[in-house]
Amino acid sequence: MKQILLLLSVFIFSFQSGRQLGQPGAGVKYPKNIILLIGDGMGLAQVTAGMYASKKPLYLEQFTATGLMKTHAHKNLITDSAAGATAFSCGCKTYNGVIGMTAAKKPCPTILEQAEAFGLATGLVSTSSITHATPASFIAHARDRQYMEEIATFFVKTEIDLFIGGGMKYFTNRKTDQRNLYAELQAKGYLVSDFSGYTLDAGIPSPQQPFAWFSALEEPVSVADGRTYLPVAARMAPAFLSKRSDKGFFLMIEGSQIDWACHANNAENAVLEMLDFDQAIGEVLEFAKKDGNTLVIVTADHETGGMALLRGETKETLKIKFTTDYHTASLVPVFAYGPGAEQFNGLYDNTDIYLKMRALLQLPAL
Ligand code: MG
Ligand code: ZN
Repeated sequence: MKQILLLLSVFIFSFQSGRQLGQPGAGVKYPKNIILLIGDGMGLAQVTAGMYASKKPLYLEQFTATGLMKTHAHKNLITDSAAGATAFSCGCKTYNGVIGMTAAKKPCPTILEQAEAFGLATGLVSTSSITHATPASFIAHARDRQYMEEIATFFVKTEIDLFIGGGMKYFTNRKTDQRNLYAELQAKGYLVSDFSGYTLDAGIPSPQQPFAWFSALEEPVSVADGRTYLPVAARMAPAFLSKRSDKGFFLMIEGSQIDWACHANNAENAVLEMLDFDQAIGEVLEFAKKDGNTLVIVTADHETGGMALLRGETKETLKIKFTTDYHTASLVPVFAYGPGAEQFNGLYDNTDIYLKMRALLQLPAL
């Protein structure tokens, strides 16, 4: 058994960056917009737990295409969120902890940067700090996910149209320099708002200005502790971005805290976070159904907790058990809806998400 595992590892380590799928063939529908939703730590067990805990069917059940995805990182069968998100954003396998850089520690152009360069509007939404590994990998290039203040500077460097998430302190109370990135964003023309004086419920902000909304000074709280903004942001962001550019948009929305609940082996919170993420998926799906030109992809960077769904006290209940407090190597699901969705059927690598998205948006290389 040990030998088989070793052979498997050697095979995987020599397997660089996924198959080149090339351009989709004739008859493929190309979307104008792509919304990528990442449930951090959302394996099949997390989806299943949410599904049986929910009183109504999950929005996920409305998706028309499903796939399974390999999540391993460069030289590590178990990925972290930085390498996992960099596979999605750049299409390359990198080391755990690395943000938007190749395994050779060279910055790689991200799908968000490519979309921006091609005139599409872009956005990031998360329920963690906006500088946290998953959103960071789409906009920043850093050797270590811990360099939050360095990562924050990329939000001022790029022309991102919208971002919503926590971690305001990395913009305002910086230890590595005296910059006030909040003020710099305002000077660049952003409507910047924080959790103290603005609700996303106020409607769609004017598309004349790019928009940044901070949901917390540090990490946003959990659903259990009263967080409600993710579905609201998921309703507002596509409506806003569709008015920012005629060419389309790329938006990434992360349900960040499914992962944290599973690290804590907190089954109740894992289900609450899963259902909150599904509400956000529902909002996006409603936009996509009306719009008709939007491809929605839902997946995870990895599974967290080795969640097992076991026989409960009655035949109609389940007991959730965790086998680890870290990530696992299990395949994770991919769900797709909209033009090009059929490209996401099958079993493939996490780097293929990037290749498929870029081919479908017909983005040239940077
Ligand atoms: Mg994350
Ligand atoms: Zn994690």
